Amino acid sequence: MQFIDLHTHTCASDGSDKPSDLVKKAARLGLKAIAITDHDTLSGLSEACAQGVESNIEVIRGCELSVHSEGGELHILGLWIEDNAQELEEALERLRKFRTERNKIMVERLNNMGLDICYADVLNVAGGDAVGRPHIAKVLLQKGYITSINQAFTSYLGSKGKAYAKKEILNMDEAMRLLNNAKASISLAHPGLLSCSEQCLTKLLLQLKSLGLTGIEAYHSAHTRSNEDMCIRLAQKFGLDITGGSDYHGATKPHIQLGFGKGNLRISSDLLDKLKQRRVKNKLKI
Ligand code: AMP
Ligand code: ZN
Ligand code: FE
Ligand code: FE
Repeated sequence: MQFIDLHTHTCASDGSDKPSDLVKKAARLGLKAIAITDHDTLSGLSEACAQGVESNIEVIRGCELSVHSEGGELHILGLWIEDNAQELEEALERLRKFRTERNKIMVERLNNMGLDICYADVLNVAGGDAVGRPHIAKVLLQKGYITSINQAFTSYLGSKGKAYAKKEILNMDEAMRLLNNAKASISLAHPGLLSCSEQCLTKLLLQLKSLGLTGIEAYHSAHTRSNEDMCIRLAQKFGLDITGGSDYHGATKPHIQLGFGKGNLRISSDLLDKLKQRRVKNKLKI
């Protein structure tokens, strides 16, 4: 049996591995394929794909978007994003500009509380173009204002933190339209993190399916067995494909391993075959 990982982050967003290093690591682990799914950026994809050819492992061009829904924020994964996805690139660039404005507001709030950090420090630890709270947290840790990344979120950067500012995200229709136009396969990421009952998830999936959703991420590092079972049941009910990934972030989330999640995640490449079959049927490139 061969294994895959369809949800990973590099230093293009808030992961810590360079795209090429992540791909090399996946090849060393013997994975058959991985998807790079950075938040709000495609900038790590060409380096990752080139390394994939070099290391003889399939690399799928992806991204993860945060979107508004009735019940709050949810995450969707686009897989097999086409090469010149101009419209998507432009929307992502707008989102990254909003990120910059938001990050600067949070830094200013921290400054007003007497924490001496500047935005250049944040950009320095980021290294990529999608910058966010984990990078601000790293600076706070480096400067000794906190003793763990988690503390940065509970005290300052989490939604109840003293320096928190809201993030501008896409609405669901717009995000789904952009990913469809970029010829992506679209999967609902980590539904188990939505604090949503099976009934509420059913309603959400119906809505997303009408907008072009074709998959649901049943396997994820944060999912319990019962989350997995619910996702598989709903995939069968609505004719969706099942996707799975660790949500690896490198040293940013050291408890999550590439391909293995918290230790016992194993995602069969059979799922990838099913995803590809649907794409071939729909005349989409693989
Ligand atoms: P942003 O996109 O800037 O709002 O940052 C979101 C990122 O922060 C996601 O990758 C989350 O997993 C991460 N995050 C949220 N809360 C925590 C926490 N308590 N500890 C570590 N990372 C967190
Ligand atoms: Zn992340
Ligand atoms: Fe996510
Ligand atoms: Fe993620």
